[in-house]
Amino acid sequence: MAPLDTTAIQEERKVYYLQKILNSTVQQGPHGCRVWQNPVGGNGYPRMRITLVAGGGSSQYSVHQVVLACSTGTVLDRPFFEVSHLCHNKLCVEVTHLTYEPKVVNVQRRNCVAEGHCFGHQGQDSPDCLL
Ligand SMILES: [Zn+2]
Ligand SMILES: [Zn+2]
Repeated sequence: MAPLDTTAIQEERKVYYLQKILNSTVQQGPHGCRVWQNPVGGNGYPRMRITLVAGGGSSQYSVHQVVLACSTGTVLDRPFFEVSHLCHNKLCVEVTHLTYEPKVVNVQRRNCVAEGHCFGHQGQDSPDCLL
């Protein structure tokens, strides 16, 4: 994934982005996923354009990455890390269903989906899957 650093975005602008995102979702499913209703990118993930620096150009990012970065202030620039979906729904942008963790853990989560229950994951930023 492309690095995403939202620290230069003004707080009110982050709130605006998050509200705009929320307005593009409906809440669905047993875990309360916020499911994106607008068109998605070729990789199956919702995407949108945001401006990182006032007066600068906009860039396109996956919406779930924007939600995590703008909500928590986490800078998404670590190699071999990804924003994982605990709920395994690519269209979900609910911040509590997202976590920034090593890609290898995200890959392990596929086993949980296949088996229908979470095997547990190592690391404080790697909570159990929502299944
Ligand atoms: Zn979800
Ligand atoms: Zn799991």
